Amino acid sequence: MNSVLIIGSGIAGMSCAINCAQKGIHVILASPFPSERSQSVMAAGGINAVLPGNGEGDTVESHIEDTLKGGAHLAGTKAVTGLCEEAGDIIRYLESIGTVFSVDDKGRPAYRAFGGQSHKRTYYCGASTGKQIVTALNMEVRRFEAKGIIERRLGLCFHSALIKDGMCYGAMMYSEAANRLENIYADALVMATGGQNALFGKTTGSTQCDGYAAGKLFEQGVILKNLEFIQYHPTTMETSQKRMLISEAVRGEGGRLFYNEVEERIYFMEEKYGPNGNLQTRDVVSREIWATGKDVYLDVSFVGKKLIDERLPEVRDLCRKYRDIDITREPIPVAPSVHFFMGGIAVKNEHETNIKNLFAVGECASIYHGANRLGGNSLLAAMYGGRVAARALAGREACGEHPLFERELEEAQAKLNEMADTKSTFAYAHIREMLAQTMQENLGIVREEQALTKGLEKIDNYITAAGKIHYDNSVLQYFNYSLPGILTLARAVLTSALSRRESRGAHYRSDYTKSDDSYKYATLISYDDGKYRTWLDTEGEYES
Ligand SMILES: Cc1cc2nc3c(=O)[nH]c(=O)nc-3n(C[C@H](O)[C@H](O)[C@H](O)COP(=O)(O)OP(=O)(O)OC[C@H]3O[C@@H](n4cnc5c(N)ncnc54)[C@H](O)[C@@H]3O)c2cc1C
Repeated sequence: MNSVLIIGSGIAGMSCAINCAQKGIHVILASPFPSERSQSVMAAGGINAVLPGNGEGDTVESHIEDTLKGGAHLAGTKAVTGLCEEAGDIIRYLESIGTVFSVDDKGRPAYRAFGGQSHKRTYYCGASTGKQIVTALNMEVRRFEAKGIIERRLGLCFHSALIKDGMCYGAMMYSEAANRLENIYADALVMATGGQNALFGKTTGSTQCDGYAAGKLFEQGVILKNLEFIQYHPTTMETSQKRMLISEAVRGEGGRLFYNEVEERIYFMEEKYGPNGNLQTRDVVSREIWATGKDVYLDVSFVGKKLIDERLPEVRDLCRKYRDIDITREPIPVAPSVHFFMGGIAVKNEHETNIKNLFAVGECASIYHGANRLGGNSLLAAMYGGRVAARALAGREACGEHPLFERELEEAQAKLNEMADTKSTFAYAHIREMLAQTMQENLGIVREEQALTKGLEKIDNYITAAGKIHYDNSVLQYFNYSLPGILTLARAVLTSALSRRESRGAHYRSDYTKSDDSYKYATLISYDDGKYRTWLDTEGEYES
């Protein structure tokens, strides 16, 4: 292929861009903001890999096994094997381009324990692993920008994909500066637009990850997968802006969860699961915290100030800054919050969707994490997915002559102008707030049929309202036109959760508390003219 348009410039988008550029493919890397503002910079705890001689007897096979088991055997063995086999090479590559990993007292790369893993294998850069990786990848992107192979376009938001007869030719984008839509043609389109946090309002993640791209593609015929598997991070702290993540590294370094009963501390995870109780997978810990019905705390003070200062300085500073808590002396009040999306755009092994030449990588794609992601595996998946897609693209023919989508552009622009001409009486923001409340209340850690059905009814009302409201033309047009796509995605998420009548991984139903073998497949969902169809991937088409 000669050219690719990549939308989203977090770790997945940049990894794909660099790998395409290395293969001589011209890349347009488009996003609303610079990479330094992507959610990837928030990643704190680390990235998983098995490096030779780590002294713990760890093996790539164990990493594969832990990932498959952690995901309740819903991720495909082939995809997970590729991910884990290449992890060591990814760490070495990141080091080679300037990622500064923490080292132990012998100067070797240091690694720590993360939840659900049989061995310590999470490599980290203090508590700012994402920031360090983004910085290093950014420098690499700049090298290719200087050579004219990568072209960065900022201030661009996705509008829709240019699809004709099952094939993709680029995307229609909204330019903030020009306040207009434009078509960007390319031999292939790679979506790297991250998760769906904004559906839920306040989460640990970025509001840039609003799910619109997945929702719009769904409306355009792209199949989505496993949307019901939403990871609640067990330890987050309330602040005025967001739910602040208290990294799993705190428990990895010895932090203990407890609640108070009269004058006694109850270390409920250790009581139920033994000494390793605090490091159970995130779905288990979140449910156990929820089940206590109490205020839960995380105490790491007893590991000592020296260790905290050395290994958890960012967590120490966050707690001090946002809640005036000194973690060397006091416990942290924690509660679960929406954190990561195992589901998203359904892709096959090469990261291609059901539409030819339309790919998805990183958190917006559903492939490696099954029903529950292990901490430290998503940075790895973002890096790896970018590589895999680039390899596939390099092996493809350029599409040559392509159809033009100028009439579609004119029509979409006219629709936008019509919106902007309307006097605002009711802002899109009200519907977004109601949506977040519905998603939090009707699709929580524990779900059941009645609440899910009620949630669907509410979203149907919002969809109807969104078709009638006057839009707010004092805000970015993107916020206005993205609302229907976001609501469509929310409806698809609830529909998927309703269709899985069992409990597995992060999807726990109080009306179907057991796992049921007839559901041991991914959930797929498609959209056709307002109709949502779910089915199980019994043929393993997307299991990879
Ligand atoms: C607080 C926190 C801590 C985490 N810690 C870890 C960790 O320690 N280890 C780990 O493995 N994982 C961690 N994760 C998860 C991990 O950071 C993410 O899964 C990963 O960084 C996602 O990368 P990405 O490139 O797919 O998406 P992102 O980094 O979210 O990038 C998405 C890009 O798409 C753009 N975009 C979004 N919507 C549009 C649109 N409509 N139009 C155009 N562009 C758009 C955004 O602007 C951005 O450039 C953490 C997540 C959070 C929130």
